[in-house]
Amino acid sequence: MTKKTVEFIASPGEPHFVGDGFRVYNYIPGAKNLDMQRMNPFIMLDYNPKFKFSPVEKPRGVGVHPHRGFETVTIAYKGKVAHHDSAGGGGVIGEGDVQWMTAASGVLHKEYHEKEWSKNGGIFQMVQLWVNLPAKYKMSTPKYQAISNNAIKRYYIENNEGEVEVIAGNYNGINGVASTFTPINMLNARLNTDANAKFSFPSNYNTAILVIEGKIEVNNEQIANTDQLILMKNDGEDFNIKAIDNSIVLLLSGEPIDEPIAAYGPFVMNTRDELLQAFEDYKKGKFGFLED
Ligand code: MN
Repeated sequence: MTKKTVEFIASPGEPHFVGDGFRVYNYIPGAKNLDMQRMNPFIMLDYNPKFKFSPVEKPRGVGVHPHRGFETVTIAYKGKVAHHDSAGGGGVIGEGDVQWMTAASGVLHKEYHEKEWSKNGGIFQMVQLWVNLPAKYKMSTPKYQAISNNAIKRYYIENNEGEVEVIAGNYNGINGVASTFTPINMLNARLNTDANAKFSFPSNYNTAILVIEGKIEVNNEQIANTDQLILMKNDGEDFNIKAIDNSIVLLLSGEPIDEPIAAYGPFVMNTRDELLQAFEDYKKGKFGFLED
């Protein structure tokens, strides 16, 4: 086994608002050479670093919009998100929870801050990922996995150094609770100061690390701070993360889907014709109905 090394460490750029509830920086595509192919199957990563929202009666968020051809994965770190979709899925994503929505052939959904949380306001921190689907599953039936934090299996690092939540894939024999269409590892590592955790992913898997909290050192070489993203090279398998402070890091590693990507707005397909078809189907109401 050979070492997987750091390609670059990026800091968040200017955030923008998605609707009025999500103040995000678009790491994928956005940071340096991180286009949709480079981190494929992770084709989009919107990161809302900690941000304080004032109390409001009417929850902030983003209204009804469509998706087709991929999955949206929402991880709430601070605050609460309420979600509804036209396939009948819905629920509240609380702190530490994960929502894995397979839009596939098409859904309408809306994403708002949870009503009671909105009344008090507070610190909000969230990740939303778009995970691509291979062509043969792009038009499959939509589905929804609501994964509460206590349903996520954990690997406990020895000497009480922390734990690794296995959202998808595998870590040291612990299997992730989320079902995926292609091989993906999605881990949330909660590391105490001085903890050392080893990771190993196939060298062809595209791999990145987002520092949600704290400060870490990768391979005893490069230091990354809160809110920074580390892109790993595809040069080897093994790397090591040392927590300099109490830290939370999100690790993403997936087998690339070797297919063309045609993306426009809320649709990610393989060809331009399929994108035009998506717009047409959306206009015709084929994505179902959802009240605003
Ligand atoms: Mn959406």
